[in-house]
Amino acid sequence: MIRVNLLVKRCSYCTHTLPIKQFDLTKRADGQIWKRLCKECAEYSRVWHQKKRDKMTPGQKVQLSAEKKAYGKKVRMDCIQAYGGKCECCGETHFEFLEIDHPNNDGNKERRALGKWGTSFFAHLRTRGFPAGYRVLCGNCNAARYHFGECPHERERREVKQLEEMLTA
Ligand SMILES: [Zn+2]
Ligand SMILES: [Zn+2]
Ligand SMILES: [Zn+2]
Repeated sequence: MIRVNLLVKRCSYCTHTLPIKQFDLTKRADGQIWKRLCKECAEYSRVWHQKKRDKMTPGQKVQLSAEKKAYGKKVRMDCIQAYGGKCECCGETHFEFLEIDHPNNDGNKERRALGKWGTSFFAHLRTRGFPAGYRVLCGNCNAARYHFGECPHERERREVKQLEEMLTA
């Protein structure tokens, strides 16, 4: 059993090694459960960012959110490209329809553990060099598998194959 109160952690901002209770818990894509900054530094950084935001002109705010959006789109596209760039089931290539799927079906467990699929998860895949075990599916094929255990495309392919086997037998 781990005695949590004996654990210590180094704050990446003030660089002090502090008892773990000085850190807030979080869920990050890389599985870290304690924040990198100690509570005091986290609060300092929160206030600093808030002040910076308050000082920004509306134009700067718009630009910042556009930059964030563009970044989110970029990491997402990088992931989709890296995992094949099209739906593995139906061949859909419009990236707006595409999602990353976890074929081992522990995707839901992982999703729950990491929050939902978002920029942070795509960034996590990219920094890990796109590890194996993921694939691209479109929203339709993914949803059908999720709700019915099978995509109608798969069923159709199976039926065609059965028919072909019958005809050649
Ligand atoms: Zn600190
Ligand atoms: Zn599809
Ligand atoms: Zn399909």
